[in-house]
Order: sequence, then structure tokens, then C-alpha cells
Amino acid sequence: VISFHNINKWYGDFQALKNINLDIPRGERLVICGPSGSGKSTLIRCINGLEQFNEGQLSVAGHPLDAQHLKRIRGDVGMVFQHFNLFPHMTVRENLTLAPRRRRKMSKQDADQLAMEYLARVDIAHQADKYPSQLSGGQQQRVAIARSLCMKPDILLFDEPTSALDPEMIREVLDVMTELAEEGMTMICVTHEMGFARKVADRVVFMDEGEIVEIAPPAQLFDTPQHPRTQLFLEQIL
Ligand code: ATP
Ligand code: MG
Repeated sequence: VISFHNINKWYGDFQALKNINLDIPRGERLVICGPSGSGKSTLIRCINGLEQFNEGQLSVAGHPLDAQHLKRIRGDVGMVFQHFNLFPHMTVRENLTLAPRRRRKMSKQDADQLAMEYLARVDIAHQADKYPSQLSGGQQQRVAIARSLCMKPDILLFDEPTSALDPEMIREVLDVMTELAEEGMTMICVTHEMGFARKVADRVVFMDEGEIVEIAPPAQLFDTPQHPRTQLFLEQIL
């Protein structure tokens, strides 16, 4: 459903992505790991056009990611960020209903109903009228996930969704992500949560210095990494 073909990207004269080739089938749960600065965020941000690449072809859901298809693709691809990115001056409910009302032209009533449905799914319906600052980090991240789901995306991107959370809140967010994975959502997650990756991922990509160094099912990548750079990285984080 997503296909990178010889993608290269530079920030000025720094090459952030080097000849990326990657095909992600519908329903795949892909985890991306690698050292800081290796290009993980840049790679996934290309999928919804938050970053532009300089060379190569990228297609999402059968369409090339170009100006003509960008809006459509953005509607199909949800994204969850490390720092939640909720609108601080809006309640939880308003955060969820904004995009469905503006972009999907839904009535207030329908959007509210949809919002409450997804808030219930992430177990936070009773907080709908609070502001983000009145919630814990884990709760805010679950709201951010529910907000993405309100747009009924085909694909969900996660960029280190638990790395800003206190340890006791990581589990509740990973549980929601695991449920989504079990429902068959196509998910691409930048994360260093190895337990989650082992349990949920179909494949794990290891990136270093803008390249895909190794890609394999989690047990294989973590237990018998083939490339010395992968081995070194895993030794450092485990
Ligand atoms: P982290 O684990 O720290 O989030 P990452 O793997 O997500 O790292 P990226 O954010 O994709 O890495 O950045 C890849 C490289 O590109 C880094 O060296 C970074 O300094 C550089 N970079 C990222 N964004 C920009 C930008 N807007 N302008 C210039 N350089 C950038
Ligand atoms: Mg990053």
C-alpha cells in the first residue's frame, strides 16, 4: 500500500535519506528503529507529505505522492507524534471533532457521536470536556490516537509515541496500539519498544545514517542481526 522507490532526500547538503527502497503491503505492522539522526522521522514524514523528498518515487494507496494527490493521501494517512500535538485551547472533544467537521463536512452531532465512540475505545470518554493540559501524558496520547482514528485512516504513522511518557503510562498507549494492530490497521511505528515490536511487528527496519541497513521479522532482527551496525545498535540499547 506504500512503496518507496529509490528515494533520496537532502537537507541542504546533508543527505538524510539514501536510496530508500521499501514496499509495505496493506495490513503490515512495520516498526522502524535506529540511532538518533538516522532518518526515521524523515522517512515516515515523507509518507504524508510532511517532508518532501528530492529524488525517487513514493506511492501511497496506488497514487503517486504529488501535489494532485497530496490532500487525498493526507486524509487516508493518520499520524501520531511524540509530543501529542493536541490543540491546547480546545477540549478533548473539540480536538476530535475539528477535522471531521472541517475536512469531512460532518454535522456537529455526527462528529460528536464519532468522537465519543473513539474516546470510549481508548477508554477516555469521561474526560471529553477537559483540556489537554488537564490530562496525563498517557491520556493525551490516547486522545491523539483517537483523534487520528476519527478520520478513519487506512494507514497510521507513529513517531516515537511513547518516548515522552513516564514509564507507567507507556503500557496504556502500547495496549491501544496493539489493539489497533490486531484489528488489521496498516501501521508504521518508529519506536524502540522492543517488547511491542516483538509482539506486534511483522517486520522491523533498522536505519542508520539515512539508509535501510537491515529489514527482517522481529525475532530475526533482534536475535540474529546480520549487519554489524545493527549488532552494535542493539548492544547499545539492550
Ligand atoms: P531521532 O531518533 O533523534 O528522532 P531520527 O532518526 O528521527 O532521529 P531525523 O529527524 O529523520 O532522525 O533526522 C535525520 C537527520 O536529518 C538528522 O541528522 C537531522 O539533524 C537532519 N534533519 C532533520 N530535520 C532537518 C531540518 N529540518 N533541517 C536540517 N536538517 C534536518
Ligand atoms: Mg525522530
